[in-house]
Order: sequence, then structure tokens, then C-alpha cells
Amino acid sequence: MSNKPIPQPTPISSAYWRGLESGEVLIQSCRSCGHRFFYSRLHCPSCWSHDVEWSSARGPYRLHTFTISRVPTLPEFFDEMPQCLAVVEVEPGVRVNSALRDIPVDVLQVGDPLRPLFVRRGERTLLYFTRVQSSLPSVIDETSDPQAAPQHDSTTTDRVAIHFKDIDQLTALIDTGFTEWSNSVKVDQALVNAFAELSGDDYWIHTDPERARNESPFGGTIAHGALVQVLISRMRIPFRHEVVGFQSMVNYGSNKLRFPSPVPVGSEVHARARVAAVEALAKGTQVTLEMQTFVKGFDRPSVINEIVVLYM
Ligand SMILES: [Zn+2]
Repeated sequence: MSNKPIPQPTPISSAYWRGLESGEVLIQSCRSCGHRFFYSRLHCPSCWSHDVEWSSARGPYRLHTFTISRVPTLPEFFDEMPQCLAVVEVEPGVRVNSALRDIPVDVLQVGDPLRPLFVRRGERTLLYFTRVQSSLPSVIDETSDPQAAPQHDSTTTDRVAIHFKDIDQLTALIDTGFTEWSNSVKVDQALVNAFAELSGDDYWIHTDPERARNESPFGGTIAHGALVQVLISRMRIPFRHEVVGFQSMVNYGSNKLRFPSPVPVGSEVHARARVAAVEALAKGTQVTLEMQTFVKGFDRPSVINEIVVLYM
């Protein structure tokens, strides 16, 4: 989503943020005692000297510890759930708080080697990490998508805050129909192969391009429906509203999940959503969102998913 809070550099931390812009993870070191440290400070936390300087973290980048967050720290981060929050060692003894992307969390282990991702969002470059073998590019521009960028602008200005107990106003959203399109995500063979390995579903129709060219009714490999379904986590839906005032939000699962048309490997997918139902329950307000994922340019959806969210 578009209105996630963006960190604001201070005079002490601005060198760190400039480093991320040029693809470097910078930490501080002390000229007096040699101690190296993060987060940014005016003095050395070991000898109290003010003679400190910035330099690149030496690596190796390793996972120090992590947790899986299924309730967003702020509502704006709903589209990133579940979020993998991590402490990453950027050289022996120096650790940075960050979040992980493109990680199969079931296989994640403390000590795993990682590599940094420099994610441009708005005017800031943010630091994430991923597996060494991830196919993600090391620089990701979340503001340059020609489809997503103008929608982001419109959502920041047009988003309406609605209290989670305001059933009338929430119910009125049902009539507003689908949102504009999200950013798009490329579904390439490397991504499909990674999902085949993760899920154990390595059927040739997904993983063998040559056989699929000759034998598949689709003329090539197609993505797993389950893969396309979870790619919604990489898409930012430009909702025009924001539910506020709740203590917690629970993802209840799905009322309905369908894969009406295949996604040929190599295509780009994008999504849109609408509020399908609103129900006041004793424990809170239940909102059903219909998410539709399409291959760009196709007029039939590839995934229809009715997600049920409970605000309490
Ligand atoms: Zn020192």
C-alpha cells in the first residue's frame, strides 16, 4: 500500500541513508579504539570518543534472529503479511534490524547467509534482506512501476479513513466496485522452479519447458495456481479506504478460491480488489475482500480469492 511511513534521516543518520541509495550498507567505526557499531551515534559506545567515521559493513551477512509477524505493526503493512522481521549480522558483532523478502519461512534458520536488497520507496531507499539464492534483483524500485506510481499518488490523497465499527460506511464500500490495478509482478521460470521445489509439486507442466511446448495444451509451462495466489503479497492494491481504530486484525482465510485461467510462464500479473461483504459480529467486524489476479492484458482472472479479515 502506498502510505507506509517512510523513515526520516536525522543529521546523525543521514550518511547511512545516503549509503543505501548507492547500494551500500554503512556502519560506523571508532578511530580511537577501532570498535565498529550500528545504529548511528555521535560517539563510540565503547570508549566514548567522538572521533567516529562511516564505512561499508564487511559482511558476511547472516541471519542472527527472526520472527514471523502475522498481525501488521501498522495497518499500512497489511499487504506485507506475514512479515518476516529479522536481526541481521552485517559483519561479526554488528547487527541491523530489518525485514526479509522472498524467503520460504519454513526452511529459514538462524545463521543462514543473506544478501541485502535496496528497495526504493518514494524518496528513500530501504534496506531489506533475502536469501543468497533468491532471484530478486538487489535493487528494487517500488516507485518506478508505470502502472503503480500514479495510483500511489491518488491513494495517498484520496484514501478515506473508516473506523472499524462504522458498519454503514464500510458497507457503502461494497458499491464502489474494484480498485485500480496494483503494480505488476513477473512470473518467470526461476520463480516457478523455486515454488516447485518448495511445494514438492514439480509436475512437468510447470517445470519442463521443452515437454510443455510439445505436449501441453497451453504451448509452454504454466505457473502453479497456488504460487500465483500468494504473489498477492508482492502486489500493492490501491485501496481508496483504510480501516482504522482496531486493536488487532486477524486473517481468517478464504471463503472461495478459484483458478479460472492459467498463467503462462513469462507473463506479468497484476491484481485488483473490492470489498465484497461486511458483517458486524459480537467479537468485531468481519470484512470479505474479493481479490482478483489477472495476467496483464487478459480479460479472465487467473485467481479469484475471497479473503476474510476480522477487525477487533
Ligand atoms: Zn571507541
